Amino acid sequence: MTNIFLGIGGNLGDRHRQMRTAVAEIRKVLDDVRVSSLYESAAWGVSDQPAFLNAVVRARTSLEPLELLDAMQAIESDLGRVRKQHWGPRSIDIDILLYGSQIIDEPRLKVPHPYMAQRGFVLRPLADLAAGLTLPDGSLVGELLTTVSQDDLRRIEGPEWA
Ligand code: AMP
Repeated sequence: MTNIFLGIGGNLGDRHRQMRTAVAEIRKVLDDVRVSSLYESAAWGVSDQPAFLNAVVRARTSLEPLELLDAMQAIESDLGRVRKQHWGPRSIDIDILLYGSQIIDEPRLKVPHPYMAQRGFVLRPLADLAAGLTLPDGSLVGELLTTVSQDDLRRIEGPEWA
């Protein structure tokens, strides 16, 4: 069993419902699932679109990294993900942030997730669950969080949302 962290987010349709459904589906596939608080953040990259809801999930799994990616992509498709634009609107996006302390660099899967250390909407909920966690490069989540902007980030519900 490996400890893993997922970032989930969405900005289309009934965002709360999509996020709760995603976590319900994740609970069917992974063990010991815990969720962060729920955050709202202004859209990243492309600004003329609805605000995102974001959260981080911590879990344990015996799935191998690419099996985990397949399982998360199946959930994304089930939730009717429509993506026309890079960083554009999507109903739900599930990123593998961390897979134990492994560094993975494959065409389909880069772990740690390449942008996670720059994103407040990832680091803030990750710190809720594991502020003392170190990334494979030795950086501490709680310290990374102090280096990014949280201006556009709003905590809207505690961890009981899912
Ligand atoms: P995006 O739509 O930006 O979430 O990108 C999805 C693509 O990123 C998929 O084709 C994945 O194979 C790839 N990918 C690479 N690394 C990761 C990761 N850590 N978590 C999720 N998807 C990833």
